[in-house]
Amino acid sequence: MIVERIWAANSLRNFHYLIACEETGEALVVDPLDAGKCLDAARARGFGITQVLNTHEHRDHTAGNGAVVAATRARVMAHSDAAGVIGGVDRGLARGDVIKVGRTVELEVLDTPGHTRSHVCLLAHGDAPALFCGDTLFNAGAGNCHNGGDPALLYETFASQLARLPDGTRVYPGHDYFARNLAFTLDREPGNSEAAALLPAAETHDPATARITTLGEEKRINTFFRLQNPDVIAGLRERFPEIGERPDARTVFLKLRELRNRW
Ligand SMILES: [Zn+2]
Ligand SMILES: [Zn+2]
Repeated sequence: MIVERIWAANSLRNFHYLIACEETGEALVVDPLDAGKCLDAARARGFGITQVLNTHEHRDHTAGNGAVVAATRARVMAHSDAAGVIGGVDRGLARGDVIKVGRTVELEVLDTPGHTRSHVCLLAHGDAPALFCGDTLFNAGAGNCHNGGDPALLYETFASQLARLPDGTRVYPGHDYFARNLAFTLDREPGNSEAAALLPAAETHDPATARITTLGEEKRINTFFRLQNPDVIAGLRERFPEIGERPDARTVFLKLRELRNRW
């Protein structure tokens, strides 16, 4: 499996991805916003785009569908419950579906509600596991729930699915919010030395070439995975004394999400 990350260089800081089969050159494009950049990247690498995958229905993840399809006649795929909103979807997806790209790539569909109610992530198994997580999980952060989402569902997705994936899984999110999210982790857990060490580079990096994290790393630097950390809980208790001395993970997650909304 070849993964090519394409930086949109827009104010929303979107990433697109090409996932290609090294044997056949067939490629799937994830969340095309800037279709021209996706098509140019595929051409430069000699890939033929045969499929388009939208992780969810927001326009910054779907706006390039039409132009990519017009240029390549690719099939469009999205969560079956998002297909009607997106329009032009050829294959509605559900949990457990498998997407094949060429001969060598198999991607499992995860049903991951929270940022919206109809959001999928793609999981590549094998020697180099990878997660294409749209706006569910970001580097050092979690998606917001402002536009059709639900924080309680987002917690369930984190706890029952993402946290259980192998630590070596590489993380490919839909946006670059790394620096801001690291700063929030440090606001909640000032003693997190690994997050502190990453912040200077994240503040000045070129997103096009920025580091790619693993889930194991996220569990150490992403406050939304650190729900039992004593410092995180102590900090929350200053703001929300009603959560008590031993809040459960769900309560901690929901309070962190609430704080991040206005931080
Ligand atoms: Zn979104
Ligand atoms: Zn987005």
